[in-house]
Amino acid sequence: MAVQREWLEKDYYQVLDVPSTASEKDVTSAYRKLAKKLHPDANPNDRTAEERFKDVSAAYDVLGDPAKRKEYDEARRLGVGAGRGFGGGGSGGFSAPGGMRFDYTDLSDLLGGAFGRRKPAGGPKKGADLEAELHLSFAEAVSGLETSVNLTSDVACGMCSGSGSAPGTSPVICGTCGSRGVIDDNQGLFGFSRPCPSCKGTGMRIETPCPTCAGSGVARKPRRIKVRIPAGVQDGQRVVFKQRGDAGRDGGPPGDLFVRVHVAPDGRFGRSGDDLTVTVPVSFADAALGATVSAPTMEGTVTLRVPPGTPTGRTFRVKGKGVKGGDLLVTVEVAVPRTLTDEQRHLVEQLRKALEA
Ligand SMILES: [Zn+2]
Ligand SMILES: [Zn+2]
Repeated sequence: MAVQREWLEKDYYQVLDVPSTASEKDVTSAYRKLAKKLHPDANPNDRTAEERFKDVSAAYDVLGDPAKRKEYDEARRLGVGAGRGFGGGGSGGFSAPGGMRFDYTDLSDLLGGAFGRRKPAGGPKKGADLEAELHLSFAEAVSGLETSVNLTSDVACGMCSGSGSAPGTSPVICGTCGSRGVIDDNQGLFGFSRPCPSCKGTGMRIETPCPTCAGSGVARKPRRIKVRIPAGVQDGQRVVFKQRGDAGRDGGPPGDLFVRVHVAPDGRFGRSGDDLTVTVPVSFADAALGATVSAPTMEGTVTLRVPPGTPTGRTFRVKGKGVKGGDLLVTVEVAVPRTLTDEQRHLVEQLRKALEA
């Protein structure tokens, strides 16, 4: 698995608000708490919550997987501080007197955006985010699974490997900007630079465009993307796969893939967060006298003790038999027989008399 750029830039531990020594269980419970709080269903039209929800999902995608977490820790141990400056060359900036150089983003922070200059349009572009739909059975949503989604997206052109130059040729250094990707405009106190119009900020020029992609470096292709859906996803939840979206342009990173999960209802079980719910019929006699009844779980059955005098609709909690360590909530429903034999009718009539007396 390739080390991802986000890994160096984002502190996933901070995102989940856990120490880097947190146990797997703590990571999961921190994620659950935040996911519940920030879930789009609970925060309609709240962009901040939506962004944080994405971050939290992305963080858990890595920290919730022991193998990925190990790689992430290792990448950060080796690479923290090296994360800035990725993609270089393309973005504009300005030089202040004394030769200090700022990125536009920093500049607008510094000057409150007074200059009205935004990030230049040229330079490396992040690929588009993609959305895919995935239909899961109830059991698959409970246990999680590895599967794949099919979609059509931009990928690096196979003919030129994404370079945009015809096979056998290479991009040449841009003559206008001399590979810097920016050209300077001197306007009084500050020297501004803007993206080079000849090379659109990439610093290189394609002299012989690839015939397949006409120099764009990307091709539209149906793709089958492997995805690991974590256990316990909810109907309607979006799972984020960082950098699995469209290919970036001009050296930019790929976009993200969002998989919206649809969970089919189950004939027996319901879900309430990480708890499973199920209804079990008991006879009037069992409810009145008490009995041991069995209830289905996702893996088999459990038995539970129904005490004497249990009213219909009472719910019993069976620890740990739900989703990802949640509980199974068993609701008993006193069943009334649709038909009675003569003997049963006689006994019930006697019982009625006895109860009325
Ligand atoms: Zn091409
Ligand atoms: Zn140029």
